[in-house]
Amino acid sequence: MACEKTDFLIVGGGLAGLSLAVELESRAVEFRIVDAPDWPGACQACAGVVNPVTGMRHVLSWKSEQLLEALLTFFKRWEGRTGKQYLRSVPLFTSLQSVFDENQWMLRSGDPVYQDYIGRTVRTGLFENCSMEDQRFGQVHRAFRLDVSTWLKDVREWLRLQSRWVDDKFSADELICTPNTLQWKDMRIEKGIAFAEGIRVLENPYFGWLPMNPLKGDALVISCPGLHLQAMIKSGHALVPLGGEQYWCGSSFVLGDRSQHPDPEFMMKIDAWLKEHLKSPFEILEQKTGVRPASRDRRPVLGPHPGDSRLLVFNGLGTKGVSLAPYCARTLADFLTTGTPIPHSMSVGRFDRWIVPLPHQNQGTGKLS
Ligand SMILES: Cc1cc2nc3c(=O)[nH]c(=O)nc-3n(C[C@H](O)[C@H](O)[C@H](O)COP(=O)(O)OP(=O)(O)OC[C@H]3O[C@@H](n4cnc5c(N)ncnc54)[C@H](O)[C@@H]3O)c2cc1C
Repeated sequence: MACEKTDFLIVGGGLAGLSLAVELESRAVEFRIVDAPDWPGACQACAGVVNPVTGMRHVLSWKSEQLLEALLTFFKRWEGRTGKQYLRSVPLFTSLQSVFDENQWMLRSGDPVYQDYIGRTVRTGLFENCSMEDQRFGQVHRAFRLDVSTWLKDVREWLRLQSRWVDDKFSADELICTPNTLQWKDMRIEKGIAFAEGIRVLENPYFGWLPMNPLKGDALVISCPGLHLQAMIKSGHALVPLGGEQYWCGSSFVLGDRSQHPDPEFMMKIDAWLKEHLKSPFEILEQKTGVRPASRDRRPVLGPHPGDSRLLVFNGLGTKGVSLAPYCARTLADFLTTGTPIPHSMSVGRFDRWIVPLPHQNQGTGKLS
């Protein structure tokens, strides 16, 4: 049988894999992408929020300026191409739950580094159908929301139309990996395979040694016609307008849990939280569950395997896949197309004390020896 040829194969069509696909296509690089239709990734539970100010101390996130620049450039280009808007600037209010919290906020608001990000504090009148009036909130500037589900659907469709998309599970058992050949099923891969598998990287025989901390999250999608909320609110849980009468509400953070089953206890907790805070009746439409692929140091993990530069990884997007994916895709594509080194803080090499030697080069067994 004649072999199909490609330069790169991307494994995984979540936020990481699709961002890399869009980036490679813009550089006229030849690739295919394989994604397992019945293995839901973290992306299908994702709220799409981009919040540059995070944590109890309201600090700017890692590389916030560079990440925002890459995010805005990436979506400007994509939206220019499709004529549709996926990324929107949405006001974000985060509750200041203690005097310490308020003081931290005030401290940041006087810092010139934070002036583009930290806004006023507000107490009442903002959220007319939410009973949160007795709390103080701080406004985060430069916050955005990506319509993740529409973006995933549209990019996958675009890749299908170009015959680059393969609906299948990639298994290393079906990979022939010798010094001269990389072949998966009837596809000959000339340059490399980029694994963008989310938390399933832990099952990958080449990169399963990466120190990952799976972080499971549950969330609800509700309908609440009376709410009319235009902003994203964080107060214990987050409430995010999805458009129309629908809102995303979540989420939980369960470290070390890789199960994809929805958590019934979370459902009850969040239902109680919603009943306490919403003045209008609501209906639960869907419970979503995903496992965030967080690395041990909460930074992305990019680049080639130290033992075989044809095998690459794109992972570690953790809780911030939307903010990180375009910047990381650009960094990895620069490495693949121009050899620009990957900064140490994002590289596979920083985890070299965990490395497990590669499975012996094989003729299709993919097994560790
Ligand atoms: C409840 C929840 C809320 C979140 N909210 C936000 C948010 O508001 N903002 C934000 O920035 N981030 C958020 N995140 C995090 C975000 O979803 C992740 O960072 C992001 O989805 C990670 O992208 P990824 O492509 O690395 O992995 P995934 O999204 O998990 O995608 C991996 C893909 O690879 C495929 N795959 C895996 N193995 C194989 C294989 N062997 N063969 C074929 N296909 C394979 C899977 O089917 C999947 O499609 C949230 C996550 C959760 C769970």
